[in-house]
Amino acid sequence: MNDINSSNICTFERLISGAERIAIVTHMKPDGDAMGSSLALYHFLGSSGKSARIILNDTYPPYLGFIAGKSRKGDIVTYEDSPSEAEAVIIGSDLVICLDFNAFHRTDRLEKALTESTARKVLIDHHLNPSRELFDLSFSETEVSSASELLYHILMKTSIISEDAGRLGEDCREALMTGMTTDTNNFANSVFPSTLHMASALLAAGTDRDFILNRIYNQYGENRLRLLGHMMKDLLTITEDGVAYIVLDRKTQEEYRINEGDTEGFVNMPLTIADVRMSILAKEDNGKTRISIRSKRGTSANMCARRYFNGGGHENAAGGRLNMPEDVKGVEEVGSYIETVTHTFFNEDENN
Ligand code: 5GP
Ligand code: MN
Repeated sequence: MNDINSSNICTFERLISGAERIAIVTHMKPDGDAMGSSLALYHFLGSSGKSARIILNDTYPPYLGFIAGKSRKGDIVTYEDSPSEAEAVIIGSDLVICLDFNAFHRTDRLEKALTESTARKVLIDHHLNPSRELFDLSFSETEVSSASELLYHILMKTSIISEDAGRLGEDCREALMTGMTTDTNNFANSVFPSTLHMASALLAAGTDRDFILNRIYNQYGENRLRLLGHMMKDLLTITEDGVAYIVLDRKTQEEYRINEGDTEGFVNMPLTIADVRMSILAKEDNGKTRISIRSKRGTSANMCARRYFNGGGHENAAGGRLNMPEDVKGVEEVGSYIETVTHTFFNEDENN
């Protein structure tokens, strides 16, 4: 972890101690790692005597309420609900700390305020291709499970924590454990030796992992499991190239009354099939289709997302979007678009 050196840690601590108004920003459609890392930093700053606010493009899924609910009322501001306040907090901050994304456009409608802001900016992220030039200080490491894990290693090096996870505080530790757990799919992928060290230290410090697992994985409605059955039985297509894909249109989402976050993890499931090398979930969403891609070793989900889906991410877990009507006329064309571009990807493109 080259970026975690004493000079960068010193700069990080200096930026924090010199700041009066700190904004924490994460990517649109915040997931467990986005919220976990943001909230962990929020609690760390709080216990260091600094107040900070978390600015989101749109709200977090309900299952993350157990960690988000531990922030003070009003400290999470959502552009979706209060656009001018969200922009004002970013513009009025003297330090902006960005977690779990690599370029401003990943924050969607917060991009403008981030670009205009003259605050000092810090990046803490684990994606490929970070826009380092946008930041005064970057901690960007891809050889970690999650932004939460990266933040953990940074915090452990600060003088206030000084390698003692017990000093992180319970709420901070719980948020870190949550973010790492969701981004590794509960230790199924992206697990490094450092990830297990982190988990071990958090457990030793008293983090209640059973409670966290129960909150993350066992609190869904019946509708989610029914939808999963329908998707795998009726909506899954597997192409000759070994691409499994599912298109989930708006109508089906409404029929099953699903919440944001309800399809979390579904895209991984077709990878359990021996002949499948890449899995794609396409979800219709307000005039566009959001894309999630997962791949097995040897196939680059990141490359596929960058080339054909206006996106990117990690080597084996990436995402993007199809704009309508620019990329496809409507959701009914998404399936054939996926088949065409993935066929090209596997048969004609070099270095796929
Ligand atoms: P998910 O499929 O869970 O939404 O996203 C998987 C990974 O791809 C995450 O690390 C996420 O940050 C990244 N990702 C998702 N959507 C996009 C996108 O539109 N652009 C980029 N650059 N990365 C994305
Ligand atoms: Mn992440």
